[in-house]
Amino acid sequence: MCIFCDIVEGKIPSTKVYEDEYVIAIRDLNPQAPVHDLVIPRKHFDNIVDMAQNDDGTYAAAVFDAIAEVAKVEGTDTGFRVINNCGADAGQSVMHVHFHVLGGRKFEEKII
Ligand code: AMP
Repeated sequence: MCIFCDIVEGKIPSTKVYEDEYVIAIRDLNPQAPVHDLVIPRKHFDNIVDMAQNDDGTYAAAVFDAIAEVAKVEGTDTGFRVINNCGADAGQSVMHVHFHVLGGRKFEEKII
């Protein structure tokens, strides 16, 4: 059972801000910034490493396009931050690859 597969399939409700054939983008349930969305490939990959090994580039390209669209739709395209937690030690809590898009405020120069 994978919570993001259930969201992709519409079994769990979410607030979608963007979708296409390959990805969806939803609002994060626990936002860390005024804009905090998650770009999620429709196909299940555990993490970036799994995606790098098993995607021919289609999903990776779609993720980048979606990130740019999400930033535009959310009105934060003059500045935003993209975060991916890859693996338990990095703090990944949902083991279906996803990319956090954070914006709507100025961030410090320090990344973490
Ligand atoms: P990560 O810790 O990088 O795996 O991020 C998982 C993110 O998913 C967290 O920021 C959670 O707040 C978010 N999240 C978990 N469940 C849901 C959900 N049902 N709808 C939206 N966001 C969720």
